[in-house]
Amino acid sequence: MRTQVGIVGAGPAGLVLAHLLHLDGIDSVVLEARSREYVERRVRAGVLEQPTVELLRAAGVADRLDREGLVHHGISLRFDGSDHRIAFDELTGRSIAVYGQQEVVKDLIAARFVAGAPPLFDVSDVAVHDLTTESPRISFRTADGSHGELICDVIAGCDGFHGITRDAIPAGAATVYEHTYPFAWLGILAEAPPSHSELIYTYHERGFALHSMRSPRVTRLYLQVAPDEEIAAWPDERIWAELHLRLHADGFTLTEGAVLEKGITGMRSFVVEPMRYGRLFLAGDAAHIVPPTGAKGMNLAIADVRRLSAALAALLRERRTDLLDSYSDACLRRVWRAEHFSWWMTSMLHRFADADPFQQRLQLSQLRYTASSRPAATSLAENYVGLPWE
Ligand SMILES: Cc1cc2nc3c(=O)[nH]c(=O)nc-3n(C[C@H](O)[C@H](O)[C@H](O)COP(=O)(O)OP(=O)(O)OC[C@H]3O[C@@H](n4cnc5c(N)ncnc54)[C@H](O)[C@@H]3O)c2cc1C
Repeated sequence: MRTQVGIVGAGPAGLVLAHLLHLDGIDSVVLEARSREYVERRVRAGVLEQPTVELLRAAGVADRLDREGLVHHGISLRFDGSDHRIAFDELTGRSIAVYGQQEVVKDLIAARFVAGAPPLFDVSDVAVHDLTTESPRISFRTADGSHGELICDVIAGCDGFHGITRDAIPAGAATVYEHTYPFAWLGILAEAPPSHSELIYTYHERGFALHSMRSPRVTRLYLQVAPDEEIAAWPDERIWAELHLRLHADGFTLTEGAVLEKGITGMRSFVVEPMRYGRLFLAGDAAHIVPPTGAKGMNLAIADVRRLSAALAALLRERRTDLLDSYSDACLRRVWRAEHFSWWMTSMLHRFADADPFQQRLQLSQLRYTASSRPAATSLAENYVGLPWE
């Protein structure tokens, strides 16, 4: 098989890229290791920055997002026993949309079917070859076990943090910057109406907690736990008891419901530079990871492929390489801003086991300043709602 762009991975990065290329008249093939059902049910992120919403709308894949997404004009920081609201609209004139990543993925897969180019699901043994030539190749096994090969002009590595494309870059051709945090997040999805109309980020002596939601009927809640915590140690009753303790505030009642899903996610910051090797271009989690505190992961993935699709259009339609040559540097500017913001939010809101009382007072001082100073609150708000595209 021959295609212009071979895309490894049908997450937000791979699917948005395929769609934007299609709108530009460029053909691509998306290879996905999992089944359609699996990727459409995979619960992960749920906060869309305003620029992400605008991009999906301009690309014609936001009808359901506009109908079902929840527009939020602020978040609350909960500490000292009460809420301190950061009013995005007042501070920045912008907002966010709460709409599950799996819903974004469903809408984009539907668009691939409408375009007559659905992803190839359930592929295995995916490997990339000849990356420094003008005809790189992807070999794989199809769902029925037969051998497949894609000859491409360019390969997009959109296969997430545990994919294979980043590892195809030879040692010495890229540098990794990495930071791990001494805690993890235990997240649940509960069949319960949200207990508050917006997200609540809580700093508590027992550890961080987050009240979030996916729809008017489904709540998403998180607890800071030890990095090596086992989910088996957390029966539902223990999770609810801990959430009640950490989220306690006057006038707030946490609504419980059936736990639909639960899991533990490690917290890590990771960047590979450059996001390119020959004709292989990395995008999204394949190239960088942020801790989820700043709600940046999916938004960054989509920001990368917005830039990549324009660069690929310049190459494949006008034989121009300038945008591809600047792709990595341009993406990394936004990536490092998000890395810093995510690290900053994480450092301000979590309890560090080795922090002494001096450091804890610094954290509280930072929270009080962020909540009470208009410039400090604006800085949080403009990063959270998404900085304008450069
Ligand atoms: C458990 C978890 C929870 C998260 N929670 C949040 C959150 O609450 N808030 C937030 O903002 N962000 C969250 N994130 C981050 C956010 O979901 C990611 O940043 C986002 O999914 C990145 O999109 P992507 O397309 O780059 O990668 P992915 O969504 O990971 O997509 C990569 C795709 O490639 C496929 N793939 C992998 N290997 C291969 C292969 N060899 N061949 C073919 N296909 C392959 C995968 O199956 C997957 O479908 C979470 C991430 C994880 C892992």
